[in-house]
Amino acid sequence: MAGSMMTDAALARFQTQLRNEREQLTAQIGQFELSLTEVRASRGDGVSDDEHDPEGPTMSTEWSRLSGLEREAADRITAIDRALKRVDAGVYGVCARCGGRIASARLQARPDAELCIECARSAETRH
Ligand SMILES: [Zn+2]
Repeated sequence: MAGSMMTDAALARFQTQLRNEREQLTAQIGQFELSLTEVRASRGDGVSDDEHDPEGPTMSTEWSRLSGLEREAADRITAIDRALKRVDAGVYGVCARCGGRIASARLQARPDAELCIECARSAETRH
């Protein structure tokens, strides 16, 4: 297949990995949402008044921890969806920045990686 830089078997393996991870993350989000609902319920009256709750500090900490984790999982799903689209487009494993090949060890560790290790590093140091 022209343009594709990895074998179909390797590609299929990453695709499965991405789909499995997406499934796990979706399940995790379900759990977080359940816990968030519990935190909300244990506030008592159900009136949402985040700032003026006497139980505020504890609840807010748990709340922001959970919603932080949920947001993280949602971001990962977005990245995985992008990766799956790249699989469909035949550009999976190609660095989005320099067009070079992303090392398969890196893809194994992070199947949703969009950048090769060099580009990822220089993107990080710019922050
Ligand atoms: Zn690159």
